[in-house]
Amino acid sequence: MPQQPLAQVPVDATWDWQEQGACREADTALFFHPQNERGMSRLRRDRAAKSVCGRCEVRLECADYAIRAREPYGVWGGLTEEERERIYVRSTLTTFGRDKGEGIRAAGVDYINEMLAR
Ligand code: SF4
Repeated sequence: MPQQPLAQVPVDATWDWQEQGACREADTALFFHPQNERGMSRLRRDRAAKSVCGRCEVRLECADYAIRAREPYGVWGGLTEEERERIYVRSTLTTFGRDKGEGIRAAGVDYINEMLAR
């Protein structure tokens, strides 16, 4: 079942950054691949989603959340599922704490910016 981009699912006051997400105005299907999507179709869709994230004011908050929550699907904070997996592998942490900023610190902002540029 497709999920909504984070910014379209405000949950509580501590997640108020979601309301500033650039994806609020975007097509949800851009951020979550359909079943069996592969190759150039997937690459193009991921790039289009990352382009939206690239102009999002809350990109780092979103990436931080996705890493800490180990979101399994979708583009979050400009990171694809595969890119987040690489962050998990690179990290010496086996689990990410719930503290805000811990995911970003583990991943490194430079690494996230590099992934967004691809
Ligand atoms: S970084 Fe991307 S997925 Fe996250 S709120 Fe912004 S536009 Fe949405």
